[in-house]
Amino acid sequence: MSSTRVLVLNSGSSSVKYQLLDMRDSSRLAVGLVERIGEESSRLKHTPVESGRTREWTGPIADHEAALKAVAEELSRDGLGLDSPELAAIGHRVVHGGKHFTEPTVIDDAVLAEIERLIPVAPLHNPANLTGIRTAQALRPDLPQIAVFDTAFHTTMPESAARYAIDVKTADEHRIRRYGFHGTSHAYVSRATAKLLGKSPDEVNVIVLHLGNGASASAVRGGKCVDTSMGLTPLEGLVMGTRSGDMDPAVIFHLMRVGKMSTDEIDTLLNKKSGLIGLCGDNDMREIRRRVDAGDEQAQLAFDIYIHRLKKYIGAYYAVLGRVDAIAFTAGVGENAAPVREAAVAGLEELGPVVDGELNGIRSDEPRLVSPAHARVAVAVVPTDEELEIATQAYALVKKNN
Ligand code: ADP
Repeated sequence: MSSTRVLVLNSGSSSVKYQLLDMRDSSRLAVGLVERIGEESSRLKHTPVESGRTREWTGPIADHEAALKAVAEELSRDGLGLDSPELAAIGHRVVHGGKHFTEPTVIDDAVLAEIERLIPVAPLHNPANLTGIRTAQALRPDLPQIAVFDTAFHTTMPESAARYAIDVKTADEHRIRRYGFHGTSHAYVSRATAKLLGKSPDEVNVIVLHLGNGASASAVRGGKCVDTSMGLTPLEGLVMGTRSGDMDPAVIFHLMRVGKMSTDEIDTLLNKKSGLIGLCGDNDMREIRRRVDAGDEQAQLAFDIYIHRLKKYIGAYYAVLGRVDAIAFTAGVGENAAPVREAAVAGLEELGPVVDGELNGIRSDEPRLVSPAHARVAVAVVPTDEELEIATQAYALVKKNN
């Protein structure tokens, strides 16, 4: 029997999200998540796609090992167990791959050690990813475990885009450079946008706007990333749900000296209490739009700041790319919030992109153009699919190695 299934694991500090896919037709066999790992009221939610009947379970799940065992049991109940010979690989989302990992990678001891070495630059994410990998290895030591890195797609950035203008020796000593994140999504969406235009990725230049709760923009030339808005960490760049994005770094010194705030307090302020939630108390774009429509000035200002920053990045990436064929919107806000797409592109007609009000208002899960046929630059909405991209990359690597 040929092995065509890939289990994709996205392990966070207190959660594991998973999908089992069959790569013969890229279909999903099961999806689910375990949340609040380590608490009394952990929750497992599992949906076998064929029956569509979701099973939910609440109770204590002590750690990632227990979580993965519970997932394995649920999969077994549907005849999709991890012991199945049809399972070809387990694909792991790994947030930080540094400079080193430019491609999906079969995990061995040296790879584990390198992911561990990167913990200082990804203190929240890499430890959780490592725990997920080690647990999966214990469950199926014989199976290829593949790491797919959020940073990999951005490793093609030239040094001029990847370096901060700070002392080179200090930067190198502490591995300070712009790595970028959401790379799996930017890779998937830029390719899908080329397909939507009926072209191959190497023929098109795309600005990808991944607007979720975390948000990032990228400039993709001929299928390769040449710049992206997130940096050493996901804090840089666009205004996000709870992160500030760009600001004068001296704000931090000011908060330390004058505000007497600690490093941890400032970290929390900028990552968790800033962005949309800091500006207006809400980070959900649906609620912000509802308030804007009701005439709420604070929500309007938050929305305007969000759009202003987005426009600055679109403009910057026009200059970086020289020629733009498409602007692609993706993730929760990008896929669903028509007013954000309309406002981000408004006034850019001279540059080429135009949004058609009617097309932009249509709701759909399919990749689609929302620009009129005559627009010189296409505006696209492309639902992202990071799990499919991880499974595709992991499966391709397994095939290549066999
Ligand atoms: P992440 O993966 O970063 O957590 P998502 O890509 O799932 O985020 O996006 C979540 C965000 O998408 C929500 O916080 C909300 O602002 C926005 N969102 C989701 N659905 C809609 C919608 N129908 N209209 C506007 N915004 C939406």
